[in-house]
Amino acid sequence: MKYSPVNNYINGQFVHSQSTASLEVTSPLNGELLSTVPLSVAADMDAAVKAANAAFAGWSKTPIKERVQVFFRYKNLLHQHMDELSQLICEENGKTMDEAIAEVEKSIELTEFACSLPQLVTGEILEVSRGIECRTTYAAVGVVASIVPFNFPAMVPNWTIPNALALGNCMIIKPSEKVPLTVGRLAMLLKEAGLPDGVFNIVHGDSAMVEAICDHPGIEAVSFVGSTKVAKIVYQRATANFKRCLALGGAKNHLLVLPDAIPGMTALNVVASMSGCAGQRCMAASAMVAVGNSDHIIEKICEEARKIIPGKNLGAVINKASKDRIEQFITEAEAQGAKILVDGRGAVVEGKEEGTYVGPTVIDYVRPDMAVATEEIFGPVISIMRTNTVDEALVIENANTYGNAASVFTQNGGMARYIIENASAGMIGVNVGVPVPREPFSFGGWNESKFGVGDITGKSSIAFWTKLKKATVKWNPEAGVNWMS
Ligand code: NAD
Repeated sequence: MKYSPVNNYINGQFVHSQSTASLEVTSPLNGELLSTVPLSVAADMDAAVKAANAAFAGWSKTPIKERVQVFFRYKNLLHQHMDELSQLICEENGKTMDEAIAEVEKSIELTEFACSLPQLVTGEILEVSRGIECRTTYAAVGVVASIVPFNFPAMVPNWTIPNALALGNCMIIKPSEKVPLTVGRLAMLLKEAGLPDGVFNIVHGDSAMVEAICDHPGIEAVSFVGSTKVAKIVYQRATANFKRCLALGGAKNHLLVLPDAIPGMTALNVVASMSGCAGQRCMAASAMVAVGNSDHIIEKICEEARKIIPGKNLGAVINKASKDRIEQFITEAEAQGAKILVDGRGAVVEGKEEGTYVGPTVIDYVRPDMAVATEEIFGPVISIMRTNTVDEALVIENANTYGNAASVFTQNGGMARYIIENASAGMIGVNVGVPVPREPFSFGGWNESKFGVGDITGKSSIAFWTKLKKATVKWNPEAGVNWMS
């Protein structure tokens, strides 16, 4: 085993779980056993909530300008430890080194935003009538939880950690049991940056720990990022227990390609979007609607897709079950009459035969009712549908139950604007394959890609991590007049 067993992190210390049950953590790159992760129990969650609760009084009363100093230092530490963190992400998640580096870079950008929070939470004050003022201030919510998925072992945790903590909350994070290593390194960097013990805690485990979070009376707010199926469970259970909840789910992102799109640029963007992180991004393009005659663009897409080589510039998918599931989608589409233009099934990387790779796959003549058109595949696969008009393409896009992102490729500004306004998705790209808003703009989808109000990053995350206090103050209107008498 390459690394020692993963432990929980409670009150600033790595501690054994009170359970002896654990799961193995293997690298998707080559099947190497990396570590084991504990399947924690309710007593572990209790200990973490207790530590977080004890830290809350001091941390929430620390002025925000002081709190963000921790994150200025944390940001520098992320820079300093870029190679080591990227290596770990690569090993446990299976993505390429370039993708892992990009993830740490994005974590740095997220932390920079948290450092700017004092400028954004200044509150307001107004004299509403003579001698009477109303003013607002932001208070921390309390002990909060963050439940995260496997596909971004550093970035998604950093969607929540810097903002929630800088705003005065104390957190328990439940990492994905598939990628539990990176978050432990983040905890060490937070401690080195000066974060007081108990403010940030890690409890590892599976669905039992997610349920423990939703049910624990000491946790005030729950953020979740993962599949729609689990997002619904978490949202229902957390809100039934009267907690605030923001639950981000899965996606089926559509790219609308118009015949006037620039072929080379469009092909590069489509292929980068569908194959980046082996298609395991909630922002990945997995459906394309070719409007009118776009054969010349589809040809270029196939050309670019063939340049993506598993084990070289394409990482692995998370495990064998995922590889089998993705290949099954392709086989089923083929059986239903779709045409496989580029086939990624059966990919094997020499010397890494135990790795779980799927090559880039382009499927044409997909019908909107096929599973490859409606379901999240979470692999490097693009399903191409064809329509004659933009409105037909929008009907297909808007019929899907998700609504994370959509993009249009065109040189026609009017058409681009029409699609921005009429596509039912939270994040829209124009000639951009992965339209992730950069900070301070916020990340969050619509429809079944997000449950709850607000977004997970940027300015619209502030309301989720804070409570607004409204004070009405009557001042003595005579003050000053008789001061010296
Ligand atoms: P997942 O839903 O299987 O797991 C997410 C978390 O929930 C993990 O910590 C896991 O331990 C826990 N979990 C799993 N099953 C559970 C259950 N039945 N009850 C309670 N908890 C459970 O997701 P994943 O496979 O780790 O990640 C991939 C999914 O996440 C994709 O659907 C992807 O689109 C989505 N995702 C969405 C966003 C977004 O911003 N919308 C971002 C990243 C990933």
